[in-house]
Amino acid sequence: MLVVMKFGGTSVGSVAALENVVGIVARSVQRGDRVAVVVSAMSGVTDMLLRGARQAVQGDTETARQLHREMLRRHKEVLDAFLSDPKVHDEVLNAIQSFLNEFDSLCHSIKVLGELTPRALDVIAGMGERMSVRQVAAILESRGIAARALDATQLIITDRNFGAASPLMPQTTRRSQEILVPLLDAGIVPVITGFIGATEEGIVTTLGRGGSDYSATILGCAIAADEIWIWTDVNGVMTADPRIVPDACTIPYLSYIEVGEMAYFGAKVLHPQAIRPAKRAGIPVRILNTFEPEHPGTLITREADGGDKRVKAVTAIRGLSLIVIEGSGMLGVPGVAARAFGAVARTGTNVLMISQSSSEQSICFVVPTQDAPRVLSALRQEMERELERQDIENITAQDNIVILTVVGAGMRGTPGIASKVFGALGREHINVIAIAQGSSEYNISIVVDQQDADNAVRALHAEFGLGTDAIGTTGSLS
Ligand code: ADP
Ligand code: ASP
Ligand code: MG
Repeated sequence: MLVVMKFGGTSVGSVAALENVVGIVARSVQRGDRVAVVVSAMSGVTDMLLRGARQAVQGDTETARQLHREMLRRHKEVLDAFLSDPKVHDEVLNAIQSFLNEFDSLCHSIKVLGELTPRALDVIAGMGERMSVRQVAAILESRGIAARALDATQLIITDRNFGAASPLMPQTTRRSQEILVPLLDAGIVPVITGFIGATEEGIVTTLGRGGSDYSATILGCAIAADEIWIWTDVNGVMTADPRIVPDACTIPYLSYIEVGEMAYFGAKVLHPQAIRPAKRAGIPVRILNTFEPEHPGTLITREADGGDKRVKAVTAIRGLSLIVIEGSGMLGVPGVAARAFGAVARTGTNVLMISQSSSEQSICFVVPTQDAPRVLSALRQEMERELERQDIENITAQDNIVILTVVGAGMRGTPGIASKVFGALGREHINVIAIAQGSSEYNISIVVDQQDADNAVRALHAEFGLGTDAIGTTGSLS
């Protein structure tokens, strides 16, 4: 079997976790699988790199120097634990040190120029993965597994959308086949950076935060893997974020559509775009726990086993603002919505949810709070005349908003879900600000105030009985 395995930040973030990674890869190789590994930066490293760069543009490079020392310490601790051959140890340490020196000099340039471009930010953000692959490949080699560290800049070719690049699949497929297949055929485990790619000219890009999941599915699709395994720090995709809902449990089976909705609506366990390549190619994806490798986790395929549960999970996205356009003069005037969304689109903002009241007296939609000021001024400019004439009375932004979403393919055609949602929230005295249902009927989204969010997630989770027993039967690792 050809498997692409991705290990997330916590899975490569400590000596104990890396011991498990070695065991997992070794077992697959011994079984005769051909294995390609994708790794994230050690946990916390991407945040440190970004923080150093952002401080530098404010004129502070001392923070970057401190973070440099901290990142070096984290990597060195791992190298000291695993690499007993001093030559190999020093080789990898030198490679890591030169990335960190480059980080210093980039931060210095940012301070001098007083400017941090998205392009420079991607170069810096991607260094964590480049250090991580060298470390992980050397560890596997030291345990007798033939491995080779690779930068995905030579494999994943993307557009120039720095910070959230999209892969160009024909080029990516060609490169991946050319470079990865000969290694796999020779019994060598390629250890590939997650998160990063490069433009056709070779400029480093990133796929967005949490993008290593996406790297794994892009590469899995490019080399036609039999399965893609995402190793993380929880037992698969759960009925809610286990940090908020203590009795959340594993969902054994999900469809591509269901997990896509969950990821889009805030389940951090998978990058929102990651499921798309797997879905297109029909490759099964498993979400597994590095710290409990025997647990079957979640199996994602085209058709999920829905069981008799209508709702499978509750998710939440935070850090949002609700934009409201209201005015009685909008009644029946064609084109207001089109003009409003045209203006929003020109700001490059992602609109997460839209709802219009039937009286047409208001249109509201949800955007990330960081984009809200730009959206407001674009709308006020576009609607200047209507505002003057008071056809539109107000365009406002309400911050500290959360979208809660209940997801499940079994909701389709099942009456009564919305009323259960309102009933559960009503009993908790939680005010519902807006509601929307996707036409696919795979989800219902509700907007509430941030301070109600955790309670609301727990109330919905309990209302739909998600914590009490697992859905469907347990999957097994084949
Ligand atoms: P990795 O570094 O392995 O990519 P992430 O931190 O990106 O891991 O994602 C895993 C985390 O996602 C879990 O530790 C969990 O706290 C969080 N999470 C949020 N919602 C869910 C969910 N529905 N199911 C599982 N995990 C979730
Ligand atoms: N290291 C990157 C991040 O923290 C990518 C990832 O972990 O998936 O966003
Ligand atoms: Mg992640």
